[in-house]
Amino acid sequence: MVIGLEVHAQLSTKSKLFCSDPTGFGAAPNTQVSPISLAHPGTLPKMNKKAIELAVKLGLALNCEIERYNYFARKNYFYPDLPKGYQVSQHTAPVCKGGFLTIKTETGTNDVILNRIHLEEDAGKSIHDADPDFTCIDLNRAGVPLLEIVTEPCIHSAEEAFTFLTELRRMLRWTEVCDGNMEEGSMRCDANISVRRSGETVLGKRVEVKNLNSIRNVKKAIEIESDRLIAIVEKGEIVLQETRSFDADKNITFSLRSKEEADDYRYFPEPDLPPFVITDDYLSNIRESMPALPEALVQRYRTEYGLSEYDASVICSDKEDADFFNALIAHTKQYKAAANWMLGPLKFYCRENNISITQFPLPVSSIAELVELVESGQVSFNNASTRIMQLMIAEPGKNGREAAGMLNLLQERDGDAVEQWVQEVIASMPDKVKEYRSGKKGLIGLFSGEVKKRSKGKADMQIVQKILVEKLNQ
Ligand code: ADP
Ligand code: MG
Repeated sequence: MVIGLEVHAQLSTKSKLFCSDPTGFGAAPNTQVSPISLAHPGTLPKMNKKAIELAVKLGLALNCEIERYNYFARKNYFYPDLPKGYQVSQHTAPVCKGGFLTIKTETGTNDVILNRIHLEEDAGKSIHDADPDFTCIDLNRAGVPLLEIVTEPCIHSAEEAFTFLTELRRMLRWTEVCDGNMEEGSMRCDANISVRRSGETVLGKRVEVKNLNSIRNVKKAIEIESDRLIAIVEKGEIVLQETRSFDADKNITFSLRSKEEADDYRYFPEPDLPPFVITDDYLSNIRESMPALPEALVQRYRTEYGLSEYDASVICSDKEDADFFNALIAHTKQYKAAANWMLGPLKFYCRENNISITQFPLPVSSIAELVELVESGQVSFNNASTRIMQLMIAEPGKNGREAAGMLNLLQERDGDAVEQWVQEVIASMPDKVKEYRSGKKGLIGLFSGEVKKRSKGKADMQIVQKILVEKLNQ
């Protein structure tokens, strides 16, 4: 199986590629249009600087070569949702060339090689089901900036395609180039699929599958389509080069149009936009403004902060989490404990309340205080992560120590007080003490549980353990 993916990513710019119309999702049809996106005669495009910056940013993150001298071309075709009659695109001369993205799958680590990344404008949207007699056109999307990211035909399983897209989406979000939201169409993917007999080096005829609105569906469509192609080849029949659509409900692909001949788009350089040149300064400014990329951050968390590979990877699975963790460890040097807090009680709280980590109600400084209170043995982790944290959330402004004090949960670390509770417990269970002394060491848990109860949870359990062993072994 041979797969090449084409991904369209909508850039996170406020305005369109060649005019100041807004780009927000979900506006009423045809409200985000001006004479420029409607292609009225006499209107002229004007380049959105931010779009170039974002394209270069992604190119750098994906190890591409950045083209310094750039221009746009017109790709001419007629379609009702394309008011100009041509799309302005860098199809002929992409701003980013080559590059790769490393992925890890069950079968190992490998680089998915990119062919190019180029800038282009989106078309409008034809809506076929809103009216029984007419197709409606919404031009809000016309002129929205897109990056087209094209891989080489170097992917060989549905699983690899799935992992590549997941990783690419993380990178798009990490660099804040695109929100990666496939349901809203800000990330779209077409899959080109062919099959050949093992050992063959020439590529088979490819089929392009469109309308894949989730990463999971890309995987499903590849599985289904490759089965279909293999069956055709096994029967000795010929694969038609065509564009197909995926129907996720019926779990089938069906033909949209045949693609035997190359389309002739009559590309020519866009005369209304000057070429743009990327200078050394511009490039190094972007390079400096780039956040540390996930792989580098995982390494840093492991070597500098001693986190496990697993914890580091989970924290780096998205940028919000990594940013949050970075903010948290600016307030405490208990890195591992901070990671445990984040991946344990904080994540749990967020899931329960259906919020993201950025909306966690306590400031990172308060969380760091809780981490420190636990690590210094002043409160138990269980109390800190439940009752104390809850009280702090309920009564903002209260610090951890105050909250622990109000709940009477500051642990007794005073050896004399602990010793008193231990003595009482030992005195109250003479039979058990005898059993322990004759070898049933497992009873230690029972004794410490009793001490905990007697102290109403305030005894520092490490100290309890130490004194208990001392007394029992006397
Ligand atoms: P187009 O612009 O017509 O879609 P491209 O040459 O840009 O054509 O290729 C589009 C995608 O198809 C690329 O991701 C490429 O890797 C992939 N591709 C090309 N040939 C094959 C093939 N025989 N099998 C699978 N994928 C292919
Ligand atoms: Mg294509």
